[in-house]
Amino acid sequence: MNAMNQAPSLPRTDLYINGEWVKASSGKTIPVFNPATENQIAELAAASVEDVNRAVEAAHACFESTAWRRMRPLDRGRLLEKLALVVEEHADELARLETYDNGKPYATSRYVDLAFTIDALRYFGGWASKTAGEYITLSPFFDDGGVYRAYTERKPVGVVGGITPWNFPLGQAIQKIAPAIAFGCTVVLKPSEETSLTTLRLAELIHEVGFPKGAVNIVTGYGHDAGAALVDHPLVRKIAFTGSTATGQRILAASAKTMKRVTLELGGKSPTIILADADLSRAIPGAANAIFGNSGQVCTAGSRLLIEKPVYEEVVAGVAEIARGLRLGPGHQEGTQLGPIVSSRQLERISGLVQSGRSEGARVVAGGNRADRDGWFFEPTVLADVRPDMQVIREEIFGPVVCAIPFSARSEIKAIANDTPYGLGASIWTRNLDHAHLLAEEIDAGTVWFNTHNILDLAVPFGGTKMSGLGREFGTEAINAFTEPKAVVMRLAGDY
Ligand code: NAD
Repeated sequence: MNAMNQAPSLPRTDLYINGEWVKASSGKTIPVFNPATENQIAELAAASVEDVNRAVEAAHACFESTAWRRMRPLDRGRLLEKLALVVEEHADELARLETYDNGKPYATSRYVDLAFTIDALRYFGGWASKTAGEYITLSPFFDDGGVYRAYTERKPVGVVGGITPWNFPLGQAIQKIAPAIAFGCTVVLKPSEETSLTTLRLAELIHEVGFPKGAVNIVTGYGHDAGAALVDHPLVRKIAFTGSTATGQRILAASAKTMKRVTLELGGKSPTIILADADLSRAIPGAANAIFGNSGQVCTAGSRLLIEKPVYEEVVAGVAEIARGLRLGPGHQEGTQLGPIVSSRQLERISGLVQSGRSEGARVVAGGNRADRDGWFFEPTVLADVRPDMQVIREEIFGPVVCAIPFSARSEIKAIANDTPYGLGASIWTRNLDHAHLLAEEIDAGTVWFNTHNILDLAVPFGGTKMSGLGREFGTEAINAFTEPKAVVMRLAGDY
């Protein structure tokens, strides 16, 4: 039998706390399904508040230990580099496990999720030894004969609570764990209850590498109890969250009680903007890729397609033709381009929203329905002539559904592109660089791409404006997210 068709071996599904595998104290479990078959494949431990408290206490004890505080930054970096090597060795196995659990095509798991994960470990490993403070000459408004100076240090914030979604499970976990460790924090991570398996396998690999006990703890569980307990715990000094805007709002409100630091990477409704002078041979496949990649389950997916009138019909027809030609299938099957939707709940939400678009008068040019096969598949869908008041254009669908809107003058673009509560990404497709740069200034989004979409790089700050989030991850911004400046002010006797 082809190895790709065999079920991958599963990791331990207990909680990983203080370097040990433990059962959930309540004995409760969470069923896990393969979205391509709808079959149950595993059961996760459902952490209770007490379990989360134990994980936080372990992370705090490690953070306070002399061994952790005195560990050379280079050695924290080496831990991440060692983990990168082990993850690299197991990349194929991890990718197959992700495909089994999340449903995405193997090629995406292996060459997007795993590639990003390994790069992120190396990138943040490099940062561990490169943070530095400042030495400042002060200007006192009095003269007491002294000389005043200050220095600042970047101190790790403390215990970090990481909470991740289901669309890029392993990459998201590393996006929280790697900077936390690099900058001297310890971490308790709660993965999405939909897709925890690769994060649990990661815990096994972390154990194998020999991280200090309590430095990284993984607790699986539901958001409303395990996730909320992490947010409520006073010893957690920062929450690094990626997920929906609704959950982000709850976390922000709950964090106020203990004045936690928060970074929130939330939802989006990003525009792909095609000007009439664009190279359509690149813009049309680019627009299709921006929405259909990972079955549209991407926070920066180009879910609003704004097209200049002279090329509107051509672009809509071109994207629709690509949509019709995409091969849906189980992620492990060779040639699959689009996998299933992660859960039946998410599939129902997508179906409901597309139905609302239909009944509000949108034109269905491609797809529009649940695919006629086993598994939670939805046809790649193009809705045209969408009006700004329709639910499909206002809400994040998080599925393979794009809404096309024509515009007749370039002066309209700013208003249409920014007519959304979100501000995560946007792409502009044109041959005119002057227009591209001027438009980029007008679009309210964390990232603007020219003639490409969804290019994320660890060196570039990533995050959203408006309801798409708070703070930035990656690049030098990660230092601000995981450390705090501490100033030491001194008076030096001036008469030596
Ligand atoms: P979600 O908000 O439902 O869940 C995300 C995580 O939060 C899960 O681990 C969940 O268990 C936990 N959670 C739920 N309620 C909680 C609570 N009250 N307290 C603490 N934790 C809680 O999101 P999802 O459906 O898993 O993921 C899809 C969403 O994530 C989309 O909106 C997408 O745009 C967003 N996302 C954003 C980015 C980004 O970088 N901006 C990246 C990927 C996904």
